[in-house]
Amino acid sequence: MNILVINAGSSSLKYQLMNPETGALLAKGLCERIGIDGKFTYKPQVEGKEKLDAIDVAMPTHSEAIQTVLNALVDEKNGVIASMDEIEAVGHRVVHGGESFASSVLIDDAVMAAIEECTPLAPLHNPANIIGIEACKAVLGDKVPQVAVFDTAFHQTMPEHAYIYAVPYEYYENDKIRRYGFHGTSHRYVSKRAAEILGKDPAELKIVSCHLGNGSSLAAVSGGRCVDTSMGMTPLAGLPMGTRAGDMDAGVVEFIANKYGYTVSETLNILNKKSGVLGVSGVSSDFRDLESAFKEGNHRAGLALDIFAYRVRKMIAEYAAAMGGVDVVLFTAGVGENSAGTRADILKGLEFMGITCDAEKNKVRGEERIISKDGAPVTVMVVPTNEELMIAMDTMEIARG
Ligand code: AMP
Repeated sequence: MNILVINAGSSSLKYQLMNPETGALLAKGLCERIGIDGKFTYKPQVEGKEKLDAIDVAMPTHSEAIQTVLNALVDEKNGVIASMDEIEAVGHRVVHGGESFASSVLIDDAVMAAIEECTPLAPLHNPANIIGIEACKAVLGDKVPQVAVFDTAFHQTMPEHAYIYAVPYEYYENDKIRRYGFHGTSHRYVSKRAAEILGKDPAELKIVSCHLGNGSSLAAVSGGRCVDTSMGMTPLAGLPMGTRAGDMDAGVVEFIANKYGYTVSETLNILNKKSGVLGVSGVSSDFRDLESAFKEGNHRAGLALDIFAYRVRKMIAEYAAAMGGVDVVLFTAGVGENSAGTRADILKGLEFMGITCDAEKNKVRGEERIISKDGAPVTVMVVPTNEELMIAMDTMEIARG
């Protein structure tokens, strides 16, 4: 049976229909400009079926968007299933589960209320996720189980000393201000997959999981449980990213705001959207562009890449310290899976910890591969992420009770 995976944004909705038992992807696509002029993309992954790229599709709300997706999936000519009965359950990516959710759950009224309660922690994302769930309920009814899979859930196992910020404790008690972490579904999938590839029990492994994409975070996964991660209460924390600054002196916020007459929100907008490797290089947030610009002699593009590699390298060592050792370092997401150069730069200088990079084996893009030198004490590997598959697997398991 198939699971429909939904990732709803405020005016967009990404979807995938897959069979988690076989791992087969049947169709995927995107509804964009919901509430504006509606753009619908449908990419069937089945032989002989044609893709669709349609603009001006009436989608005043997410409900029409979901209906458009379902119509395409069961379409006589290009659909991939015969009827809606072939959708066993729907899995929703939900960004923030706060302290309420340490794992995926079957959605009911109490769960909806708890997701709503987490909205102050993710004011842009959770309301969109709620709209997506409500739209699915409206279109599919109560008979199709819906499951919420949270970006934050995997990190709920962090110990207090890793998640409490060194600010007055009342802010934690009263306002739940603390480190939550994101990319949890990805870190969980790749760390589990790494153990499978190595034929080891996750309980035996200390893994540093490096999710390096447009957004980047590291997680320290010991015995299958997250013990630390680099994003914080919001995804602005930790590593420098495509456009986000990552960790820095909070005093800079006041300085920029005062100097340029910006509000705190305006200043944070700069730290979220105009900083990171884009801000340093002035070239692009895209690592491919930075690599090309650097090759053409652009110093600041090279500097941005250096800063990124340096910060990831330091954090790998930090997380090894957090776990009292490291068995596996893994790379995933757009940059981690594809950029051999960035991986090699990050790993340079970690040999003292038994972390190596075999130049030949490192020539890999987007596939599972061990890239450390033969016989090295630490296994370094590339493990492509698949958050949708993880969501689909959770959804099937929970829907079947
Ligand atoms: P993600 O957010 O996981 O989709 O990752 C997006 C990032 O991956 C962008 O910065 C891309 O430039 C980067 N990326 C994708 N393919 C490559 C590649 N072949 N070499 C370097 N960076 C890449």
